[in-house]
Order: sequence, then structure tokens, then C-alpha cells
Amino acid sequence: MIQEVIMFFCRCDNCDKILDDEGITAWAHEDDAAEVADGEGWREVDGKWYCPECFAKLFDEDDEGNITLKSEVLEAMRRPRCSKCQFFGYECKRNPKPEDAACDEYKEWPF
Ligand SMILES: [Zn+2]
Repeated sequence: MIQEVIMFFCRCDNCDKILDDEGITAWAHEDDAAEVADGEGWREVDGKWYCPECFAKLFDEDDEGNITLKSEVLEAMRRPRCSKCQFFGYECKRNPKPEDAACDEYKEWPF
């Protein structure tokens, strides 16, 4: 018998990278995916997950573990949203047609 099952994987909320633990990319339990992500240096911030590279680019963390967006990220988020998709520039990079004139913000997002 072949049956469908529900699995859990972890995708970076900034760059879409998928957590890969030596070829294993999905787990039967959400807690297991979170535990592996944690062990691989991924970080959860306000319910979103970030790969180590994106976490370092987007956030500052003080000695007491307080996590805040970097000032340059906050500045970039104040820019106008894309007129086509209405997302902030950093999300427009998921647009399959970044050359679209409506997504000029895409080209300005430095992260
Ligand atoms: Zn990432």
C-alpha cells in the first residue's frame, strides 16, 4: 500500500533555502524539524525561520539574547512597496520576473 503522509521541512523565510541535514530535508514531526534547524544554526524569530546567513545579515543580537532587525534593514523596509505585488522590496526577489519594471525595489534590496 502506498499512502500519503504529512512531513515537515524548514524553509528560510528570507531566501527560501531549505534546511538540509546530510540529505534529509523533511521530518515526521514539526518538533524534529525545529530541533535539527536549531542544531544547524537556523534561528526562529517571531514565528519565522532564518538560515544562519540570513539571520546574520538581517538581525543583531545583544548579550542578553534580544534580537532586533539591523538598522539598515529597517531603513530598507521603509522604502515603498512594489507597485505590482505590494510586497516590500526584499520579498520581490521571489517574483519570477524581477526584470519587471514594477519590481525596481528588488534591485535596490541589498540583502
Ligand atoms: Zn536564508
